Amino acid sequence: MQSTATPTHCPYCALQCGMNLTPTPDGTVEVSERTDFPVNRGALCGKGRTSAAVLARDVRLTSPLVRDGGGTLVPASWDEALDRIAAGLGRTRAEHGPDAVGVFGGGGLTNEKAYTLGKFARVVLGTSQIDYNGRFCMSSSAAAGIKAFGLDRGLPFPLEDIPKSGCVILVGSNLAETMPPSLRFFTELKENGGTLIVIDPRRTKTAEHADLHLAPRPGTDLALALGLLHLVIAEGRVDEEYVRERTAGWEDARAAAMAHWPEYVERITGVSVPQLRQTVRMFCEPESAMVLTARGPEQQSKGTDTVGAWINLCLATGRAGRPLSGYGCLTGQGNGQGGREHGQKADQLPGYRKLDDPAARAHVAGVWGVDPDSLPGPGRSAYELLDALGTDIRSLLLMASNPVVSAPRAAHIEERIRSLDFLAVCDVVLSETAALADVVLPVTQWAEETGTTTSLEGRVLLRRRAITPPEGIRSDLEVLHELAARLGVEKGFPTDPEEVFEELRRASAGGAADYSGITYRRLVEENGVFWPCPATGDAVDEGADARPGGPTGETAGDGPDTQPGSQAGETQGEHPGTPRLFLDRFATPDGRARFVPVVHRAIAEEPDDEYPVLLTTGRVVAQYQSGAQTRRVAELNAAAPGPFVELHPRLAARLGAAEGDPVAVVSRRGRAVAPARITNAIRPDTVFMPFHWPGEGRANTLTNPALDPTSRMPEFKACAVRLEAVER
Ligand code: SF4
Repeated sequence: MQSTATPTHCPYCALQCGMNLTPTPDGTVEVSERTDFPVNRGALCGKGRTSAAVLARDVRLTSPLVRDGGGTLVPASWDEALDRIAAGLGRTRAEHGPDAVGVFGGGGLTNEKAYTLGKFARVVLGTSQIDYNGRFCMSSSAAAGIKAFGLDRGLPFPLEDIPKSGCVILVGSNLAETMPPSLRFFTELKENGGTLIVIDPRRTKTAEHADLHLAPRPGTDLALALGLLHLVIAEGRVDEEYVRERTAGWEDARAAAMAHWPEYVERITGVSVPQLRQTVRMFCEPESAMVLTARGPEQQSKGTDTVGAWINLCLATGRAGRPLSGYGCLTGQGNGQGGREHGQKADQLPGYRKLDDPAARAHVAGVWGVDPDSLPGPGRSAYELLDALGTDIRSLLLMASNPVVSAPRAAHIEERIRSLDFLAVCDVVLSETAALADVVLPVTQWAEETGTTTSLEGRVLLRRRAITPPEGIRSDLEVLHELAARLGVEKGFPTDPEEVFEELRRASAGGAADYSGITYRRLVEENGVFWPCPATGDAVDEGADARPGGPTGETAGDGPDTQPGSQAGETQGEHPGTPRLFLDRFATPDGRARFVPVVHRAIAEEPDDEYPVLLTTGRVVAQYQSGAQTRRVAELNAAAPGPFVELHPRLAARLGAAEGDPVAVVSRRGRAVAPARITNAIRPDTVFMPFHWPGEGRANTLTNPALDPTSRMPEFKACAVRLEAVER
């Protein structure tokens, strides 16, 4: 056992705070501060600080489970469990074809796992039906970024640029709760004389730090951004030279914005004309300014257009691709960035390549040693895939996701999952989704494995193994290796993360998200490397054989003795990585950013007489995503023990509800009940529920799966509900 601290990163959100792990006698680790990582400089939120609690044997899975004849999950050997999965998936494939087998991944998987899962789906199963829960997080921003800039990297600049900017507009981000250590970048912004504008229907903990808080009606951020652009034009604040030199498509976007005059926008959003004018002044007057979006504007059925409208504002004012300025997305999940780059997304191959691009297929097929024509085409997006369970898709392999809690219209999705012929789940705990499985495999956690993640900055990081996993636990890579072998592919699925990363480098080479110049050695020495980072010289051995059956198909251990970088080619004149994108040109064919003309439209489900109130959903500081891990941590549960319905005193009075009274929230999709939390910090026409809990208070029972036409993002952030008092 190692006794010294291992520097690594947090298992939870996309900030990927640095932390040190020291083994403890009970086989888990002690988490302590790590001050050499510049993003958090030792600070950790409660989730990161308590993350070791999920390593304890009494909260985690310690043995494979299989469903017995009586329908109960019982412990089984690894061989029995793996045999059952191979038989279940294989039977479906034989009887109904490869697309009847689905694969669902997660934004928490390391790059190596996400890459291998995508390869497994396409090479071993031959299915097009793979997507992941990151579709529910950042996909609208990704789609808008690609349209405008030709590239999606959440933040095109490091967080350290924020304090030096003149003004930041935060749209729909409550980072004071979701990633608290990041708040310091914004307090430093203010200390340096910059200003912070927060746009959120609720006066959140983040909004309390703002110089100006705008509280638009949920689902109207698109109109708000258009109204601001209208004022920019009307007040003569367009950077004409920048628009001429660095963009295309301005006239159409300009015309669209001119149709959104301030009084009209005030009527739609509830944000007053003076506040709109003040926002434009604060944003335009400094030399530099940024817009950062998060789930608020993105999780809408018009999320891509909404983000596009904010990007248009940045382009018209000459902010994008200039120092200390621009548009960025605050990615949420731990590997939300890398997880969307390397092939677990329905339409994508590694390196952010498109599955329908013949050249991309040929390149990746070459690395994988398969015929490009054997690769399936694009599949369904996450919600559509889940909605097809039990009908078109008969068996599912699911990793690192808990859609029974996190998917929209969750009762329907739970019913779809129950209707499957066969479900296999790999997870660290018995999540609500795992509890429905035919086979559950217990897998290693972040402290027990090595692998890379890519943070919200686009910085590729190395998480390092600090302890040996308990007996009975295997890594996701080992699971995929074993399943591939059982399904007839003996080689090409290494279990050593660094070996997988070396293959990923080759697969990503030349792609938009080019990792080919990044090695484990560099990640250690440089504390992370920003992509794109193409290889120079012989850093990537193009001749290396990663085909199924080639030498990289050999397995190797992932023990604590593994030396990160031991396989990496060391090359003079390495590419330094790219902390800041677009300073010279955008990633479009002509180097110009594209304005995308967008116009306001209503959310998919406006309130009416039957459902007169808006519901918006979100997060609390002490829980993470579906809560599968954090609900098992006593300290976090004490801080955030259950769901609640946040509502304005006027709404509470109409309902006759007092603080703590149970309130039923009813939508066209179902009913959820949770205690009232009465506050002036929310609009009187809106209620808020956090979505971390299953059962009676499950917020996603209510949410609307109306999809964005481009990103296929469901509309988590706004739907129509009614409130009912509950007798107890
Ligand atoms: S902010 Fe995010 S990465 Fe940092 S400690 Fe908290 S959960 Fe972990």
